[in-house]
Amino acid sequence: MRPHPVLSALLLLLVTACAPSLFTSRPPLAAQASVADDPAQHSLRFVLAADAPLARAQLIIGSQDGRAPIDVPLNAQPLAYTLHVPDEGLLLPPGESVLRYAWLLRSIDGETLTLAQSTTSPQLLRNDAPPVLQWHETQVNNFSLRYLDDTAAARDIDLVKQTATDALTRSTLALDWSPRKPLVIYLVPRIFWQGGADFDNTIFISYAEREYTGVTLADYIAHEGAHALTSDWGNLGAAGGMLAEGIAVYATGGHYQPDVLDQSAATLVQSPLFIPPSILRRDFANQQHEIAYTESGSFVRYLIDRSGLDKFHALMRRPTDWQAIYGKDFEGLTQDWLATLRQLSDTNADLSRWQLKIRFYTLLRTYEERFDPGARRLPSQDPSKWDVALRQAMRAPADSEDNRVLELMLQMAIRSIENSRSPQQLDLGERYLADVERKVQTPAAPDDDLMAEVRAIVKVLEQQEQGLLYRDWRTVEQTLDGASTPQFNAQFIAQTKSQPAWLHFAETPVQLSLSAGEAWLTVAQWAEPLDAHQAVDDNGQRWVMALNKRDGQWLIAGRFPVSPAVLMAR
Ligand SMILES: [Zn+2]
Repeated sequence: MRPHPVLSALLLLLVTACAPSLFTSRPPLAAQASVADDPAQHSLRFVLAADAPLARAQLIIGSQDGRAPIDVPLNAQPLAYTLHVPDEGLLLPPGESVLRYAWLLRSIDGETLTLAQSTTSPQLLRNDAPPVLQWHETQVNNFSLRYLDDTAAARDIDLVKQTATDALTRSTLALDWSPRKPLVIYLVPRIFWQGGADFDNTIFISYAEREYTGVTLADYIAHEGAHALTSDWGNLGAAGGMLAEGIAVYATGGHYQPDVLDQSAATLVQSPLFIPPSILRRDFANQQHEIAYTESGSFVRYLIDRSGLDKFHALMRRPTDWQAIYGKDFEGLTQDWLATLRQLSDTNADLSRWQLKIRFYTLLRTYEERFDPGARRLPSQDPSKWDVALRQAMRAPADSEDNRVLELMLQMAIRSIENSRSPQQLDLGERYLADVERKVQTPAAPDDDLMAEVRAIVKVLEQQEQGLLYRDWRTVEQTLDGASTPQFNAQFIAQTKSQPAWLHFAETPVQLSLSAGEAWLTVAQWAEPLDAHQAVDDNGQRWVMALNKRDGQWLIAGRFPVSPAVLMAR
């Protein structure tokens, strides 16, 4: 029978419509990897069983040496590769406690699959070699910047150059003084103390991915730069902290935040927080840090505004000659200064802000002592002479879940306090502050509601990190808000599938904004491929992730890249 023309056309259409699904009805390429551990034979045997014929199979083993793809012969199923382990053991890369490895597979149909796995074995040797800190240098006019590979500073170095140039210019202009010797600025990839230190012409500045002090890079450099600039102004030891720190706070314009210096001092003077000048002069180091610095900065500013920089230079050289230089003694000058401050009006909000600010920095120091003791170390002058413990401490901050949660909350607290435009904002800052205080005082105490929210968000990120490290797409999908953003889901999975197998993979939480049912989390992605010869584009890339709370669970609904410039301009 001749086929009916319309029917055959219909049949053809049906076949065409079914064709794609017919060809893809076979499940995607799948494989199982395992390792046979044989210490007696000093060997590790990597075995792979695939459910489809393969055109190529490569294995990358994440030990200290090698880490290049090995072509594994396809002549037998399951495939196997035997690694001969040296007598002393197989050395892992620094910081690793398991052996990571990956199979890179291609089927005869051209389909590819990367399996990322890890294994433990008594034959593995942890690499506890002391860290080597290799400082790179970039020269800018009359100063140089030194930084370490794979750090936020290395990523942002062009922007840091510009910011440092501007900040040093700010101090140079305020002090009407240029550096006599070139300055060297080290960018340390962690917070230490309050974040800055200086030795004559060597300056150390914190440039950490998780920045929780609330101080900008520009203010750090202006302050420490002012110390370096004034280091040859006279007898700094005899001048004491009140003048030596006062001049740095004066040059910066506040301590540290974009402060209204005199307004802050006026608030302090008219409050129970006030430290009398005679005590500041006698015993500066033992006073509350923020108050002592701010009052001193305001006093120095009073002296310079009224009588000029030349007289202040003379005072730094002859720190007891007040009468000869100013025609008045210390007592008389401070009384005049306090009288001008008392004429400035201040509000209850100013005082509340100051009280919270002092609570914040006191808490910050206790947090460092209890949760990240490395932050209480000060770098010493010559990094080439740092001992192992100091190199360990300066290389990176502590990175437990508590560190991530508490640092995000510290940052939210200081942001609310410093940028407060309303009593509500101050209250919010106080809530974050009180939560961290409770946890720092009683680490075993359960989280309250606010901290539980922040921790839940940090946990979603940790789950995603693990999922991406092991290329476990089910786990990754559980972190995504598939219900409301299926397109983002598909894009995200496709994008991350195309990335290499990782030796390390970290999504470091940088900043969080939280409101009812919604959150925006900035993260920095740092990764190192298993294949040591593979370059990573945009390592350290920062993303803002949008999160939604659905049925009590935080899920990622989108992300967009941000440049560090956006985050530095706080
Ligand atoms: Zn200082």
